[in-house]
Amino acid sequence: MTTGEIPVDGAIDAHVHLMPDRLMVAIREALNDTAGWEFDHPTNREAIEGDLREHGIERYIALPYAHKPDIAADLNEWLLEEASNSEMCIPFATVHPADDVHAVVEAAFKNGARGLKFQCPVQEVAPDDPRLDPAYELCAKYDQPVLHHAGNAPMFEGSPHVGIERFQQFREQFPEVRACCAHMGTFEHEAFLDIARADENVYLDTSFAMATVVDHHVDFDPASIDDTIFEDLAGRVMYGSDYPNMPHSYEQEYEGLVRRDLSEMAFEALFREATEQFLGEGL
Ligand SMILES: [Zn+2]
Repeated sequence: MTTGEIPVDGAIDAHVHLMPDRLMVAIREALNDTAGWEFDHPTNREAIEGDLREHGIERYIALPYAHKPDIAADLNEWLLEEASNSEMCIPFATVHPADDVHAVVEAAFKNGARGLKFQCPVQEVAPDDPRLDPAYELCAKYDQPVLHHAGNAPMFEGSPHVGIERFQQFREQFPEVRACCAHMGTFEHEAFLDIARADENVYLDTSFAMATVVDHHVDFDPASIDDTIFEDLAGRVMYGSDYPNMPHSYEQEYEGLVRRDLSEMAFEALFREATEQFLGEGL
């Protein structure tokens, strides 16, 4: 192994987007309109998986999200079908708050979904929105985790659907549900780190926030996350990339992380064990 590679066997990327082409194109156009981001990475599953494997990734969590009502059930089914043809894909499911939340989520879990994803600002639903209660009740019943885009980066500082208060309220209601706040909780990473320290069922993922080029795109410095955080919160910070919806190369997601002076334990936790624990594998 040369330096610069992910120093862990069986590495997992906890934040990948896999969606039907039509939906992926719409999402990319929206990100291009609002943030000016351009994307060169492939969108089909085989190509994505080939790219991830080249970087030593053996499995990944695939995150769908429903930006409007009445599409989540089909989207979940599509993703479960893709995952059934893949050794690498760990499929999550989604639901829109205006759907029959209980029915959509229960069907997804019964068919093999391994967790739920909410893109809070895009779906216009906060983590503590009571319309999501049936989803969290099913997470508890089926012992499945949930991942939220609950922070206000990159362009959601005016959104009422994100931020530490809404996440905190959700935690108070459903402390038994394992929950990840994506992107290290940026731009409120300090507050989200505090929640993770206090609540053993709270996880964070590194996607986008820890990329070496993140400051080209948003006002955030990965150096503000100290090495000690990866040691002290080992097992609760998951490596993730946001591939393929990111305007930089895949290496740039992990090159800064692997250069850090972390213990072997912390690297194993970051690149594999935290995600296994989040998924409830081998607990
Ligand atoms: Zn994402």
